[in-house]
Amino acid sequence: MDITLIMLDRRGALTVDSQLQDSDPTDGQKPNDHCAVVGICGTDESFPYILASLKTLQHRGQESAGIATYSDGLIHLKKGMGLVSEVFSSRGNFNDITLEGKVGIGHTRYSTAGSKSMENSGPFLVSNSVGHLAISHNGEITNAERLRSELLKSGMTFRSSSDTEVMLMEISRNIVNHGIIPGLKLSMERLKGAYSITLMINDRLFAIRDPMGFRPLCIGKFQGGYAAASESCALDTIGAEFLRDVKPGEIIEIMPDDIKSILTVPSKKLAHCMFEYVYFARPDSIIDGREVYSARVALGRELAREYPVEADVVFAVPDSGRAQALGFSMESGIEYSEGLIKNRFSERTFIMPTQELRNSALKLKLNVISSEVRGKRIVLVDDSIVRGNTMKRIVDLLRKAGALEVHVRIGCPQIISPCYFGVDMKTKDQFIAAGKTVDEIAKELEVDSLGYISTDGLVRSIQKEKHDLCLACVTGEYPINVHGPTAAGQSELERFIPEDT
Ligand code: SF4
Repeated sequence: MDITLIMLDRRGALTVDSQLQDSDPTDGQKPNDHCAVVGICGTDESFPYILASLKTLQHRGQESAGIATYSDGLIHLKKGMGLVSEVFSSRGNFNDITLEGKVGIGHTRYSTAGSKSMENSGPFLVSNSVGHLAISHNGEITNAERLRSELLKSGMTFRSSSDTEVMLMEISRNIVNHGIIPGLKLSMERLKGAYSITLMINDRLFAIRDPMGFRPLCIGKFQGGYAAASESCALDTIGAEFLRDVKPGEIIEIMPDDIKSILTVPSKKLAHCMFEYVYFARPDSIIDGREVYSARVALGRELAREYPVEADVVFAVPDSGRAQALGFSMESGIEYSEGLIKNRFSERTFIMPTQELRNSALKLKLNVISSEVRGKRIVLVDDSIVRGNTMKRIVDLLRKAGALEVHVRIGCPQIISPCYFGVDMKTKDQFIAAGKTVDEIAKELEVDSLGYISTDGLVRSIQKEKHDLCLACVTGEYPINVHGPTAAGQSELERFIPEDT
């Protein structure tokens, strides 16, 4: 694990101290979201609130974590590779360093643009004639490569391959040339793609969401201050009252005693990511007015209506398919049971070189309760299927445990197209559903029947208008122009590497 401590002094000089420790890939069986962002303003010490929020949002990124605070003309930054608890633990040897400041931002990362490395981890810092800037970003900038070339030509330099740094440099240039608010507005006009960010400009804190609202971002109030976070569950953790979502295209300034909506850039179309409701977000979060848990139960109910089946028991693929499975059980009247048990302490696995090792890796994560499986006709519900390898092995586990029939129901339509807006689904060849019929997929998974929720059923369950959602990975219709894999700014080698293919 790399841990770096950086201090930016009044003149913007960098002091860097880093340690090399072991690195660890994250679990690749499900797609990963890009990041979580947090911002706190107003308390005597923002650091503990940011830390608690980041721990709550750990599910949005496990590669790296970082916090930047501002006090007395200084930016204090601590970041490192690994989980939040690893980066900010006593083992990190940074016990004696306090990140002082009433204002600060935090970040956890899973890379979708730019490789997994310390220099690509957030928050990012830069100094200019206006002062010190620090940014945390969730999403993906689709025109990052073009902007990077322009910025390089204008004499700017980069430390990383991350699109977040491109965004920061673009903002930095624009606020120097035009002032803070006009500069931010100009940046929003020039940056394309998905971004929910928290941004510090000296001691001023901003929460900004792209005009289509791809990724979530919300605002809360707690005793002595205000907070911005990717998901409302983080506000619950720090005892903050949820105030509202940041509107698509909105810039909010978060001050110690108030929040101020200072600008909204209009957009003709919204594109809230449907996958937040299907899988990414925690079920206890509320995103754009819809409780994630309720949406997932509704997905399960819809599945039961669309693909009824005669069976004895409903199982979830734990943990992500649980709410959908409950919904299926409630709607169908088929009993819900826990037939698969997940080892809570095996979240992170390594890429296994042989089939035998890959099978034992799955057993480390999941096991069956034989008495619940033997002689039963099972409905197995999961939130989504990307590659299908894990589903295939779970079906095999159930059959070996004596299941009579296995009927798979999936709370997301077939994933057939890459995502360029902050999710690590970058190439079509990852997807089991690309170019295949449902019958062909069922045969490959060796299941008795297979049902994917329809796109209309998905939209009904989320309770949003279809034109307000991004559905690109299941329809192939992108809400904004993209230019294939290069839009993600990734080389072949940096693309998503499946754990078990
Ligand atoms: S392409 Fe899919 S995963 Fe990506 S933002 Fe759109 S709905 Fe979400």
